Amino acid sequence: METILVSACLMGRRVRYDGAAKTSGDALLAAWRAEGRLVPFCPEVEGGLPVPRPPAEIEGGAGGAAVLAGAARVLTADGTDVTQAFLTGARAALAAALSCGARVAILKEASPSCGSLTIHDGTFGGGRLAGAGVTTALLEQHGVSVFGEDRIPAAAVRLRELSRS
Ligand code: SF4
Repeated sequence: METILVSACLMGRRVRYDGAAKTSGDALLAAWRAEGRLVPFCPEVEGGLPVPRPPAEIEGGAGGAAVLAGAARVLTADGTDVTQAFLTGARAALAAALSCGARVAILKEASPSCGSLTIHDGTFGGGRLAGAGVTTALLEQHGVSVFGEDRIPAAAVRLRELSRS
C-alpha cells in the first residue's frame, strides 16, 4: 500500500504558528490512518521554528519555486527573514517522503510551506493568490503529487493510479 505524507496539523498535532491544530475529519484520511499509511510531518517545526511562531508569508506572493530558486524570501510581518528555516523544513519533508516511499502528500492548503493551490499574497492582509508553498514546490519538483485537504478524493484517484503502475 502506498504511504502518504500528511501535514501534521491535519492529524491533530498542535504545530501551527498559533499553537493550534487544523484536524481533518475526512473519512478517507481516517481510513488511511487506521491502515497505518500516514506519515505526519510539519516542515516548519522540522525546519527549526518554534510553536507558536509569528506567521510568515512569501514576499510579493511569489510561489515556493521562487524561494527554492533564491528569487524570493519568506518573511514575518515585521520583516524577519525565515527563508532558511523554510528551506530546511522543505528538504526534511522531501527526505521523509523519499525515506518512506511516499509519492502522494496531503498538505494544508494556503500555508507558505504546505499550500498546493493557494498561498497568501505576502501582505499579511488575508489575501490569497494561486501558487504553492516551499515544501510543496520541492516535493512536486521530485515527483511527489501534492493535494490540499479539500482535494483528498483526487489524492485517492492518484493513489489508485500509482497502485496500478
Ligand atoms: Fe501544518 Fe504545514 Fe503549517 Fe506545519 S507547516 S503547521 S504541517 S501547514
